[in-house]
Amino acid sequence: TVDPSTLCPYCDNPLPSSPSPTLRTLLETMAKKSYPDPRPTNVLGRKAPFSTFISVCQRHRFESDILPEAKSKGWPSAIDWKKLAGRIEKLKPKLQLLIDDDSDDGPRARSSAWNEIMELVKEKGSRAATGVKDQFLNFEKTQPGYYGELGSIIIHQTLYDLFPPTSIDVESIAPLGAEEFLQRVLFPEVALRLVMEDQRLKGNSGRREALKILRDSSVYGVAMFPAEQSAEGKYGSGKLGGPSSTRGSGMHGNTKGRLERW
Ligand SMILES: [Zn+2]
Repeated sequence: TVDPSTLCPYCDNPLPSSPSPTLRTLLETMAKKSYPDPRPTNVLGRKAPFSTFISVCQRHRFESDILPEAKSKGWPSAIDWKKLAGRIEKLKPKLQLLIDDDSDDGPRARSSAWNEIMELVKEKGSRAATGVKDQFLNFEKTQPGYYGELGSIIIHQTLYDLFPPTSIDVESIAPLGAEEFLQRVLFPEVALRLVMEDQRLKGNSGRREALKILRDSSVYGVAMFPAEQSAEGKYGSGKLGGPSSTRGSGMHGNTKGRLERW
């Protein structure tokens, strides 16, 4: 039989074996807003409105499932946000080459983001380039892997400072416009290079590895480093963050869907 003290009092699923201080505080706070509701699945069960306990359940799921994966794969639990803009600024010469160098073996030709878009343009033909542009705008917003939503905001801001859209020579990036090029090519390139730096990856195999990390770690990034920081203030470590019911994101949507079925 299961020790009921190891179960979540609200959803009866197992709690992480060593809950973080954040989770313990959430559980204590929630205990005051709920009342005992012993049930066969959990004699220590408690009852509260769904909207009040959802943050507890999201947090313990995050700590039992997503956090261990992040740790085992070496994704950072803290990022030096104050240094991030500076790191991106240092990439400027390389990013400039993506705009200027349209040779077949240049940096742009090695960008998988650029190649994917060009494939799409080829598929759709020259038929209504504007239609293709609309599709780009409707694509799910690119996530910079474990840099999360907070990273996404800083990367965008810094890119727009470094390359104001009006300063980009659109002839060299046709058929894309400046905004699309910034969002669909330069943004993923920055995320890729940041991950390569973090993980000390080099060369083409390093690029492929970094691309995989970006894709695998985006759920973690959104949960760990949401756009709205907690009371810790701006650009906090995110350690006290984690998913909360007020933070809009794909992660939140999925988790909520699962919770509602319990
Ligand atoms: Zn729960």
